[in-house]
Amino acid sequence: MKYTSTRDKDKHVSAAQIIIDGLAKDGGLFIPEKIPQINEKFLKELLAGSYQQRAEKILSLYLADYTSEEIKACVSNAYTADKFDTDAVAPLVKLADGEYMLELWHGPTSAFKDMALQLLPQLMSAALSKTQQKNDIAILVATSGDTGKAALEGFCDVAKIKIIVFYPAHGVSKIQQRQMITQKGKNVEVIAIEGNFDDAQSGVKKIFGDKKFIDKLHKKGYDLSSANSINWGRLLPQTVYYFSAYCDLVNNAAITLGDKVNYTVPTGNFGDILAGYYAKKMGLPVGRLICASNANNVLTDFFKTGTYDKNREFFKTSSPSMDILISSNLERLLADCSNSDEELSQWMNALSAKGSYTVPNKVLERLHETFSAAWVNEAETAQTIKDVYKSYNYVIDPHTAVAYHAAQKYKKNTGDNTPMVVLSTASPYKFNENVLKALDIKAKGADEFALLDLLHQYNKNPVPQNLAKLKTDSVLHDKSCSKENMAEEVEKFLKA
Ligand SMILES: *Cc1c(COP(=O)(O)O)cnc(C)c1O
Repeated sequence: MKYTSTRDKDKHVSAAQIIIDGLAKDGGLFIPEKIPQINEKFLKELLAGSYQQRAEKILSLYLADYTSEEIKACVSNAYTADKFDTDAVAPLVKLADGEYMLELWHGPTSAFKDMALQLLPQLMSAALSKTQQKNDIAILVATSGDTGKAALEGFCDVAKIKIIVFYPAHGVSKIQQRQMITQKGKNVEVIAIEGNFDDAQSGVKKIFGDKKFIDKLHKKGYDLSSANSINWGRLLPQTVYYFSAYCDLVNNAAITLGDKVNYTVPTGNFGDILAGYYAKKMGLPVGRLICASNANNVLTDFFKTGTYDKNREFFKTSSPSMDILISSNLERLLADCSNSDEELSQWMNALSAKGSYTVPNKVLERLHETFSAAWVNEAETAQTIKDVYKSYNYVIDPHTAVAYHAAQKYKKNTGDNTPMVVLSTASPYKFNENVLKALDIKAKGADEFALLDLLHQYNKNPVPQNLAKLKTDSVLHDKSCSKENMAEEVEKFLKA
């Protein structure tokens, strides 16, 4: 099976190559030429498997140029017992009849990004040997918090790959900063930017667009790549947990094989929910996918009206990983629902030129066959954290609260009582300050580490080891630079 670009279906590229490249040269995103189809026999075989075995079977359908031994090695290196604090990897927790939480935060940084960023480096490293690429890869990341640490942890000490993370000096939480500056590994660099997230992000984009600099690095033995969610190697691992949750429901006799299940997904860049769309297209009995947004509700409006318009006020919310106005992966969904490559290119060009585009009714109807959308404001988010705690003695983080409340709105508006899986994307300990506030717990003067212990008094899940030990981990990175000097720092680290 080969891959093609959303903007040029005449391209035919191998899985290994698109995982190395990340983005197509025509500016489009890579998508599979054909979505592989599964049948009931395939699902039955998944039922008995571990998370890792389920992942191997699903990945094999897409990674035609990887051997089954290679896939097995990648998966077992990614989802190990010393990285994930439960054998289930992504456990499904029942809140009430027909209501389930899919906990995606049991990995090494307590964020759902681990589900993909533990596997991507393995797939990339295997791809480098398969394509016999001579140069090493340098991964550049600009982060507003969660992605940086998850990427560092995933790429740490992976052969032939180096990673440099830039974060805004005053734009990440204390825990997030501490997670990054204590990162171990011979191939990692962490640098604070004197500026905000946009400065870090535009600095990285500038480097990716600087042909002269890229040539220079190439001659010195390095090619640049990216670890953000436009890389197919980050999307593919996410389809696995849709299948895995479904299997768990069957195994627990909550549903019968073949019954439909709905999923609600707290959405930012549209990567997580798109993986659910692929799972449905493959033949998993998915009913509806509910796209949950916070006050940055550009996607809710899009699914309602067919107009995507990023020209609007940007809100900083308690669910910062969803504070996004351009959801890059939407392009992949639209490639599947549009009438032609030209039509899609027009929309994407309009998005970069004037910040908006409108899809015709026919396309909107196709989207509505699968997707619903709802958004949740800050007061509702806090109230939901409190309500879920009171009803179920279960503590959720603000991103998960947005999704849970959106699921309730969807059910109320439609009367659809299909079993609902809510994707839980962060450990509440990672957002302890806002969670404690929502629970009306006073924490005057307590530092971030004391807050972990305080929250533990209410949360029956233990404080994740990776967060608890931050207090005593030694600081290994104290570099900072101005946004003008980022390329220089890259060269210095690579000794290029
Ligand atoms: C990244 C992230 C999301 C959004 O996922 P997308 O794939 O960008 O839509 C939601 N919640 C948390 C905690 C995240 O880190």
